[in-house]
Amino acid sequence: TPLVVAIDGPSGSGKSSTSRGVAARLGLAYLDTGAMYRAATWLAVHEGVDLADVDAVADLVARAQLVLELAPEHHSVTIDGHDVTTAIRDPDVSAAVSAVATNLAVRADLVARQKQVIAEATGGIVAEGRDITTVVAPEAPVRVLLVADASARVARRHAELGEHVDAEAVHDQVVRRDRDDSTVAAFHDAAPGVTVLDSTELTLEQVVDAICALVPA
Ligand code: C5P
Repeated sequence: TPLVVAIDGPSGSGKSSTSRGVAARLGLAYLDTGAMYRAATWLAVHEGVDLADVDAVADLVARAQLVLELAPEHHSVTIDGHDVTTAIRDPDVSAAVSAVATNLAVRADLVARQKQVIAEATGGIVAEGRDITTVVAPEAPVRVLLVADASARVARRHAELGEHVDAEAVHDQVVRRDRDDSTVAAFHDAAPGVTVLDSTELTLEQVVDAICALVPA
């Protein structure tokens, strides 16, 4: 059976760079499930749907055509024909995404799509998000929860966004999203059999090495 590597972690834990690194190293496809929640959020905002209207948002997402390119070096996301690869990283999408991710009907829909992508990845896949190790791919032979101190996560997010961005604003963003996401119970602790990896003191290469070392021979 094709190899599935499941990686979860909070924002700024380094899970995207790590997951892409593992996929590139092992020659696997790469699925960024956060990008799916972000694309759904982008669409709802674009269509002017009230994010608090859970049925309207769920309806919109259920009808949306979501296309993901799964190559680790050129990952792209298209929703209803709009290439939103860059737009989903905008601060207004980041600020709104938790409202869509806590919509249970949206979660059921996107989880089903994610399971299908993984099932169809005949060459193996690295899937990253918040509930991959517990809900989307609980049977994956490699399951990792990536954690890092809040200070390290803020520093990484800051480096990603650029030095021109105010450090305090980045800190508030990371802390606020931790809090908003904390209402989804599935995100909290590592499930049994999940390896917790603390990346605070590790380089990207060391984290990739550590995850690749978990792959059964
Ligand atoms: O990983 P990223 O920070 O891009 O994820 C954006 C948001 O999508 C998270 O803050 C969370 O609200 C949501 N998400 C989720 N379940 C996942 C992946 C992401 O709810 N599997």
